[in-house]
Amino acid sequence: MSISGLCQICESRPAQEQCSNCGTLACEVHYEESAGLCADCASQAQPGPDNDDVEINRF
Ligand SMILES: [Zn+2]
Ligand SMILES: [Zn+2]
Repeated sequence: MSISGLCQICESRPAQEQCSNCGTLACEVHYEESAGLCADCASQAQPGPDNDDVEINRF
C-alpha cells in the first residue's frame, strides 16, 4: 500500500494509512490500526454495544 501525502490530522508526518470510515490520510500516530480508523473517528466511535445505530437513528 502506498499513500502519498501528509497526515491530515497533524499535517506534519507522512501519511501511512487511510481511514476506512472518512478516508482521512493518517500517520502511524493518528491511525488506530486495530479499528482501521483515523484517530478522529476512533475517538468518536467509542466502544459500545450499539452506539452506531443509536447515533444514526437519533435524527
Ligand atoms: Zn498525524
Ligand atoms: Zn476517519
